[in-house]
Amino acid sequence: MLLIDTHCHLDATEFNSDRDLVVANAHQAGVHKIVVPSVARNNFQSVIDLAHQHAQCFMALGIHPMYVDHAHPSDLAVLKQLIAEQLAHANPKIVGVGEIGLDFFVTQQNRETQEYFFIEQLKIAQTFQLPVILHVRRAIDEILKYLRRHPVAGGIAHAFNGSQQQAEEFIKLGFKLGFGGAMTYPRALKIRELAKNLPLESIVLETDAPDIPPEWIGTKGRNRPAELAKIAQMFADLRGVEESQIIEITGKNALKILPKLAGLYTSVKVLH
Ligand SMILES: [Zn+2]
Repeated sequence: MLLIDTHCHLDATEFNSDRDLVVANAHQAGVHKIVVPSVARNNFQSVIDLAHQHAQCFMALGIHPMYVDHAHPSDLAVLKQLIAEQLAHANPKIVGVGEIGLDFFVTQQNRETQEYFFIEQLKIAQTFQLPVILHVRRAIDEILKYLRRHPVAGGIAHAFNGSQQQAEEFIKLGFKLGFGGAMTYPRALKIRELAKNLPLESIVLETDAPDIPPEWIGTKGRNRPAELAKIAQMFADLRGVEESQIIEITGKNALKILPKLAGLYTSVKVLH
């Protein structure tokens, strides 16, 4: 069983009082791996620390489009240095560059700044041949355009909420699409339709915890990585297949698109 939460902001302050318990509960719920993306220079280190503290946690390092107003171009040099260090680590836990992308929903005022940091980070991903974890809100066509200009080793379009055609464009570029809490709301017809119809081989699961709480928690509640088990069950119901099949296929998809997640899990030495 390979239940993998491909997107969880475990370092968020919402988890400050009980983070270890949240990780333990996820493990009990069968969530074997959790990818924790960073959002800004000031949380690079906490994400690195989390990934090295917990066997099931892995990191992506990057600057999120909603944080670029407080970012400095020199943060990119820091990012590059940290990625190089983490790739050379004795127990490497870095799986990609992220969370990066564009968000034209919150604002387009800083569009040039967003595009600058996005493109520079695509170049960093190219340099290290790492996949990327993308935030793609209201900017999918622009993101596809930049991915064609700066091809990377695939990745995940997280919290995907575009059209069927845009999904197919991502798939052509070697990407998987991330689905989570949003598809648990019966009224989220468009996203449920996508989750039902896209090829299962192109989907990975995520919680985006503490954000995007599933329907049973309610929009004001705190999401946790342990909820992924129930999200997988709802996704299986939506597609009319067994939950075990969903877990197996989406888990394989995640390991395929984030290859560094595959070989590195066993921190326990097996004695013969
Ligand atoms: Zn995120």
